[in-house]
Amino acid sequence: MGPRVLVLGAGVSGLSSAVCVQQACPEAQVQLVSEHFSPDTTSDGSAGFWGPYLIGETDALLALWGNPTWKGIVEGFKQLSEDDMKQFDPSFETGTFYTALSVDVTPYLEWLMNRFKRQGGIVRQAKIENIEEVASQCDILINCSAMSSWHLFQDKDMFPIRGQVWKVQAPWVKHFYFLHEKDEDTTYVIPGVDLITVGGTAQMDDWNRNTNPEDGALMWEKAVTHFPMLQQATLVKSWVGLRPARKSLRLESETLNVDGRSIKVIHNYGHGGSGITMHWGCALEVTRMVLEALGTERKDAQRIVSRL
Ligand SMILES: Cc1cc2nc3c(=O)[nH]c(=O)nc-3n(C[C@H](O)[C@H](O)[C@H](O)COP(=O)(O)OP(=O)(O)OC[C@H]3O[C@@H](n4cnc5c(N)ncnc54)[C@H](O)[C@@H]3O)c2cc1C
Repeated sequence: MGPRVLVLGAGVSGLSSAVCVQQACPEAQVQLVSEHFSPDTTSDGSAGFWGPYLIGETDALLALWGNPTWKGIVEGFKQLSEDDMKQFDPSFETGTFYTALSVDVTPYLEWLMNRFKRQGGIVRQAKIENIEEVASQCDILINCSAMSSWHLFQDKDMFPIRGQVWKVQAPWVKHFYFLHEKDEDTTYVIPGVDLITVGGTAQMDDWNRNTNPEDGALMWEKAVTHFPMLQQATLVKSWVGLRPARKSLRLESETLNVDGRSIKVIHNYGHGGSGITMHWGCALEVTRMVLEALGTERKDAQRIVSRL
């Protein structure tokens, strides 16, 4: 029997890690265990936009898994001229323009899940109350449980950044807008395939998973004031999610002794407002760590990962 790898969590971090590990280590038995699946994860509600945002002090890590020189890798980055700025709300001081990627996360998670199952991946629904429950079922545990690492791994460096947004229909809006404001909330408009995400709050240390009508009214009023093309939009639903934040994301391995058995735990959580942006790079790094834990030389592990 090959090594047993258990991935905890079926958001974008867990699914991408499971897919990459399975592809790189075909001899491993990869099992995905999660309380919630798409469309009920935080990843599902996110705007799916590529761009570092609310990522704490992870800048150094972005050099590896994102790119601090992202201005150089997005398409057509330019500073807006005074003339360009005239098409916007006169209160805007400066602006930049660029083209970046965005993904509709729910169909993307479905695609990852199908890929995982097609390659023989095992999926199990369960809420894990403590690590002992799963430790005996695996040799390597990949922790992608996002905010739950707060209690599962007693990681008190974690904190939620509550994000409430509107999902609206406004098919005439073709560009994204991201407004940097002085308060902690940011107004943004991010088109998806069918719906546009209009947000949003960024409330530190707020664990409330219920939508708040006052937040919704306030953010909509601000959005329409700044971006009048939204006036005719149809509000489809309000959504709230907790960004799994940390001073810096946790992407590292440790060896834990659970019930007298030693298991390798690889952590991949704490991506704040950039989990979609960073997911594939983090999944590749998780895979490299798994290969090394299974005895693959570092340079060989790097070569395998570079092909994924
Ligand atoms: C309003 C909003 C907009 C956003 N927009 C963007 C964006 O445009 N671009 C971007 O890059 N990021 C964005 N983000 C951030 C992004 O959504 C997160 O960083 C990302 O979803 C984190 O993914 P994850 O897989 O780590 O966590 P999650 O998606 O939260 O998945 C965690 C998984 O772990 C499982 N789990 C947790 N606890 C347990 C347990 N005890 N037992 C079993 N399973 C468990 C859950 O059921 C779930 O499946 C946004 C976030 C919000 C709130």
